[in-house]
Amino acid sequence: MKTLRFPLLGFVAASSLVAHGAVLKPSDVVFMYQAGRSTYGEYGATVLAWGGKPTEKARAEAKGVTWFGSVGMVTEFGAYHQRFPDRYEQGLCRDIDGNPVKVPWLTDHQHQGVPYWWCCTQQPVFRQFLRDRVVETVKAGADGLHIDDHLGTAGGLWLGICFCNRCVEGFRAHLTKLPVEERTRLGVGAPESFNYRDEVKRWLAADGAKRKTTAHPLWPQWSIYQRRSAAAFMLELRELAAQTAGRPVPVGANAGLLWPGHLSDYRALDLFTAETDHHASGRRFSDLPLVAYRMAEAMGRPYAATASGGDWAYIKEKTLPGLVCGWIALSYAGGQRLMAPHHQWCYTSEKGTHWYDGPSAKFAPLYRFVRRHAVWFDDFETHADLAVVMPHRSFMKNAQRWFDLGNRLAAANVSYRLLVAGDEIVDHPLVESELKSCRALLVPERQEFLPADQRLIDDLFKSRRVFATVDDALAGVVPAVKVQAEGTVRALPRVKPGAAVVHLLNYGYDAERDDVTPLGSVQVQIDLKALGLEAARTCQWIVPDAEVASLAIRDGRVEVPRLGSWGLLAIGDPGSAASRRSTADP
Ligand SMILES: [Zn+2]
Repeated sequence: MKTLRFPLLGFVAASSLVAHGAVLKPSDVVFMYQAGRSTYGEYGATVLAWGGKPTEKARAEAKGVTWFGSVGMVTEFGAYHQRFPDRYEQGLCRDIDGNPVKVPWLTDHQHQGVPYWWCCTQQPVFRQFLRDRVVETVKAGADGLHIDDHLGTAGGLWLGICFCNRCVEGFRAHLTKLPVEERTRLGVGAPESFNYRDEVKRWLAADGAKRKTTAHPLWPQWSIYQRRSAAAFMLELRELAAQTAGRPVPVGANAGLLWPGHLSDYRALDLFTAETDHHASGRRFSDLPLVAYRMAEAMGRPYAATASGGDWAYIKEKTLPGLVCGWIALSYAGGQRLMAPHHQWCYTSEKGTHWYDGPSAKFAPLYRFVRRHAVWFDDFETHADLAVVMPHRSFMKNAQRWFDLGNRLAAANVSYRLLVAGDEIVDHPLVESELKSCRALLVPERQEFLPADQRLIDDLFKSRRVFATVDDALAGVVPAVKVQAEGTVRALPRVKPGAAVVHLLNYGYDAERDDVTPLGSVQVQIDLKALGLEAARTCQWIVPDAEVASLAIRDGRVEVPRLGSWGLLAIGDPGSAASRRSTADP
């Protein structure tokens, strides 16, 4: 195997530096936290994505389960304080006045009377703590590593941090590397003597209490610097894990992709194991998680989701496990997976941290259903009626715009893929062949691209029809799957060579009963040619709570006699020669 040499670290496999491809399969049943043997068995667990440092006993309980051990950059303040009781203050983030800053969602936590302060991942003492935690977790036998609050200091930019000496010095070095014209534009004359803390203080003082630190004109550049520093540290931790184990160690992180900025270190990650807003308090199913699932697909990394702490608090307070069942179905229908909700972290500002242990009798059968029919999940990818080009810079500026767009497409049953164009913090250029192979393209943002991507986009508009607005796309795109029913149904088609599967989700959820209202006679019109299965005349109807049935396809039309919450129209042969060839391809 080809090897690369790293200073200080000796030799390590080159593959530890690159993504390992799919470390999760679409049919995986992922646990967030550790559980007992019987609970793993009940759900059919295959992966523990956010476990602790493994012990012999815990590993034995989790036999056959791939174990990711978690290291937290924000939540482990107690252990950090314990480790460095005399020096811990050196590693704290500082606001513009030099004061430490509490972690907003851990204000109810203390260690020996010391509040949970946000710590700076640019400070050597805190870096030492994190490195040691990575080494001990890997040495204890974890198969992979999970990093919570993976952005470290950069995750607290919104709080106006961090102005510690290290951060201020590092910014000087960052500015020095910028082209002179760029520095002139930013108004930085002599970067070697530039002190951003002093500069911001002066700027704030010039306009009394009206100005906010995060509105300073250089804050966007400061944010780029902080995010790049965070990403570089994540790559260091990734290398350290691989070096410690003597093998590539897959790395996941709590990179909630609906939160702007969390893609900045994606090259250090193999998967996203992340909190994802599900808007439980809306008391209906939301299409928003699908945006995160599509973003993960665009980045070539799998997504293991959990809902937000606020979502789980709402589910617990109102006792709505039926809503969660819909979240589970949407995740797998979207090619990703909601982590088994056996023990969930809840958070509200009034109650702080508390926990939800939902009814496994309701949840576990859905996961066992996925395991039973894994062949209809694995190796399939999203069929794209439409590819949407999303410049990351635009997502950073106005994420809601992209959420609204995704939601409108989802509501119209237009199956979309995202093509993410990178920027100053996300190294992810557009791929010309990918753009050219799309059946239909929506490019709602013509600017905000890096120069090479901008050229590709400009050429695209010259050479073919490209939709510029979501209204035009909705008017011009004919979805491969159309549904007629007495209620709202989402259709999510997924394909592989020789086979297709159309997930049907019943969105008729009634919070009063915490259940969906079953639909009779759902008419599904399928463009078989678009799915690569022109010759198909029958399909299977696969649902969680009944035997597999065979249904006829007449002129592309299928009648589903009854739709409960979730069903799969399975067409073709998922184990066909065509699909075997495809999976054997390098
Ligand atoms: Zn700092």
